[in-house]
Amino acid sequence: MPGFNPSFSTQMRFFKLKPHWQILIALLCASVAGVALGNESIGQSGIGRFFMESCRFLGTVFMNALKMVIVPLIVSSIVTGIAGLGKMEGFGRMGLKTLSYYALTSLIAILIGLAVVNVVKPGLKDGQPNPDIKRMFDSKAVELGENPNEKVSSAEEKASSGSKTVLDVFKNMVPANVIKAAAEGQMLGLIFFSIVFGAAMIHMTGESADVMRHFFQALNDLMITITRGVMLFAPLGVFALIVPVMAETGLSTLFGTLMKYFVVVLLALGIHLFVVLPIMLKTLGRVSPWRHFKAMKEAMLTAFSTSSSSATLPVTMRCVIDNSGVSRRTTSFVLPLGATVNMDGTALYECVAVIFTAQVLGYEMPLTQQFAVVFMALLTSIGVAGVPSASLVAILIIFKSAHIPGLDPAAAMAVLLAVDRLLDMSRTVVNIFSDSCGAVIIGRSEGEKGILQGNRGDVFEQSF
Ligand code: ASP
Repeated sequence: MPGFNPSFSTQMRFFKLKPHWQILIALLCASVAGVALGNESIGQSGIGRFFMESCRFLGTVFMNALKMVIVPLIVSSIVTGIAGLGKMEGFGRMGLKTLSYYALTSLIAILIGLAVVNVVKPGLKDGQPNPDIKRMFDSKAVELGENPNEKVSSAEEKASSGSKTVLDVFKNMVPANVIKAAAEGQMLGLIFFSIVFGAAMIHMTGESADVMRHFFQALNDLMITITRGVMLFAPLGVFALIVPVMAETGLSTLFGTLMKYFVVVLLALGIHLFVVLPIMLKTLGRVSPWRHFKAMKEAMLTAFSTSSSSATLPVTMRCVIDNSGVSRRTTSFVLPLGATVNMDGTALYECVAVIFTAQVLGYEMPLTQQFAVVFMALLTSIGVAGVPSASLVAILIIFKSAHIPGLDPAAAMAVLLAVDRLLDMSRTVVNIFSDSCGAVIIGRSEGEKGILQGNRGDVFEQSF
């Protein structure tokens, strides 16, 4: 049939493209479709609504498919990672390096945010608190005052498990019930249990120790293999996730009153992603940042589409091992920990958001208080989960301790939420990229030779 073959061959050509091109094309098509659906006449039509609902359904299924791998993947990779370190000294050394890298990069990220928000001052207009944004804060406060039941923002519901203070964030680190921790997505608790489990395995000898090692190793391989299968559907999943985001956010929100704030966050994230982390890769990791960026393309696109470091973890691990050539030993220890503990983009964002809010309310925050915000951002970024909008919970915690005069935290959150999704997508990319740089740098410091050398580490069997 003439006319049929060309489109069929176009489809075939699409599937022959490398995965990251497929995802990128899906992302672009979804942006166009999403913006079109944002137009009321299209979005509210019967077919528009059906299309949106279908996208929401498929997006949720794709996110669930990624998430279903997380718990077994985290447990198996941390256990094998630690057990593979052989001795307790090896574990101590690797642990110290990993935590130092995470603390250092998060701190640098926050300081970049602090500098940019203080120089550009997105909350001010002509040197005065921006009246348009202030009005947004006030009208949200009135709205929420009329509907007190809505006071708990949807973000808080989504991302918190009742965390109200910094201590609450860390309280579940030692879980009373590890199955419950896994079921409720309390990653810090799960990581802690896995570390204890792996460390205990170092002391085990004999046949049962070998059985355990082989079991967790096989489980880990299996989870990565499942991830590879899930990622075959990534173009469709990404398309489905992005369409509603673009339709709901709308270009007018981005290019409206909050545009300066939006740009400031992106600028600070960009400095960290394209300047600081590449410098660290070059100096500490002695690798070409460009090649590492290329190796991480698929993971970065997945992070951008899902807004979740945890959901992206399986893909990040696969890219770091398969493409950057970091050993499984290092990757298994550094990345699962990083997906929860190391959130450079999140920490930076928290700091910018809190100081921006103070600027809008006309409160000139003293330097000492700004440094208290830096400290809180560092702590909360360690504790929050790698899920969409998790930062907003951390910001709420900082708001409560920052005592900004005239602040209605719920109203401020509601305003920040207006542009949050796209910023969330961007900071998640920074979060996972920083984790991956940590794996490269720590792998290098452990004397690994295969990193970005063309020989691809200990590559997994290609089962798909
Ligand atoms: N969505 C981010 C992540 O998963 C967390 C956040 O900043 O909200 O890494």
